[in-house]
Amino acid sequence: MRGPAPVSDTPFTCGHCGRRVGPLPSGGRNRNHCPYCLYSRHVDAERSGDRASPCKGMMEPIGVFERPNGEEVITHRCLVCGFERFNRVGADDDETAVAALPRIAPRSAPRA
Ligand SMILES: [Zn+2]
Ligand SMILES: [Zn+2]
Repeated sequence: MRGPAPVSDTPFTCGHCGRRVGPLPSGGRNRNHCPYCLYSRHVDAERSGDRASPCKGMMEPIGVFERPNGEEVITHRCLVCGFERFNRVGADDDETAVAALPRIAPRSAPRA
């Protein structure tokens, strides 16, 4: 198997819980965190999906907040370098895991 695959279709093994994570069942959004334990990996530098970061550290889900439009956003913090990133809750994320995250204050000012 060679050749480039779309990022959103690339299965990966979660570096935290070790589960195999397949492509999203629907929707074209990049899956950027494990739907089971919600851990992510520090692979993006400037933009989500750019895969330009050399860090590759595991990113711990430290909390969830709600944007004014009702969208739930998981905050991930890199365990290696401390970089923080915000990721929308995925359609098939484990609801129990999301509910178990602490509620935190919104950290970014969304633009209307
Ligand atoms: Zn996991
Ligand atoms: Zn990092």
